[in-house]
Amino acid sequence: MTGLLDLVGGTPLVRLQHTAVHAKLEYLNPGGSVKDRAALSMVLDAEASGALRPGGTIVEGTSGNTGLGLAQVAAARGYRMVCVLPDKTAVEKLDALRAYGAEVVLTPSALPREHPNHVMRYAQRIADDRPGGWRADQYDNPANPAVHFRTTGPEIWEATEGRVTHFVATIGTGGTISGTGRYLKEASGGRVRVIGADPVTSAYGGGDGSPFAVEAAGHYVHPQTADDLWPESYHRDVVDEIFSVPDRDSVHACRSLARTEGLLVGGSSGTAFAVARQVTGDCVVVLLPDSGRAYLSKYHSDTWCRRQGFLDGDLDTFVSPVVT
Ligand code: PMP
Repeated sequence: MTGLLDLVGGTPLVRLQHTAVHAKLEYLNPGGSVKDRAALSMVLDAEASGALRPGGTIVEGTSGNTGLGLAQVAAARGYRMVCVLPDKTAVEKLDALRAYGAEVVLTPSALPREHPNHVMRYAQRIADDRPGGWRADQYDNPANPAVHFRTTGPEIWEATEGRVTHFVATIGTGGTISGTGRYLKEASGGRVRVIGADPVTSAYGGGDGSPFAVEAAGHYVHPQTADDLWPESYHRDVVDEIFSVPDRDSVHACRSLARTEGLLVGGSSGTAFAVARQVTGDCVVVLLPDSGRAYLSKYHSDTWCRRQGFLDGDLDTFVSPVVT
């Protein structure tokens, strides 16, 4: 009999029909994203080190897929979970966390990092104050990249029978690209090229750190101040090059995966695919981090795209017909 958490990882690699690219479908993890891997890995690691004990409380400052992954693991393994979030967070995300039984604590949005109520600091305070509290700290937790070295990398190597030549992924904490990329480089004797796909203006690709439309990937910090702020989970030495992708291209690529391949994925998958389809190589693998279900009112919505100015040119052909 399989336990729920045994289903984390082991996702399929599918060959796309319209481009010579193989896609790793991370939305097929039980919690719906690539972050199930890091969430489970960080919890198991904390259990092993004694940082997290039975009846303890997991704390993290994220509204994203890591929060959902941790809330899933917390529910399945009998921990409490507290998510600290900026008060601008969409209500659907709060509801999803609450559905897993997580406690949601809101702090004012847009506080500077130094402020004691900034999400990260507030989360740390809760972890320190609650008996049995433990903060997962995905940006600086080595168990995050390590799980990709241990699982995602070998899975891609085996599924391609060692033929993979290029690996393309987005960079949020950096855990995915660092761990997977390092494994593939080691396994291939340095032959595999590891390529980052970064939303335009994100600081990883050298942008100015100003806001961009794609959620959950990229880095907002100004590159001139970013150097000592790169997350520990991001290993720059593994990444050969980074391409910056305009939001319009990410959205277009995301929508085309749904319409031409039958893959309903999120915006960061669009960013990664926009790069992967331009890479020439014998065996290009792209990792698609999550499902499009969470973004039906964004990237997959004609109205949202039109408002953002993304719906012209090629995208016009995607407008739903209106019966008058
Ligand atoms: N895309 C999505 C949808 C994500 O949730 C994340 C994780 N924040 C990423 C990309 C980036 O993954 P990583 O944190 O492993 O770099």
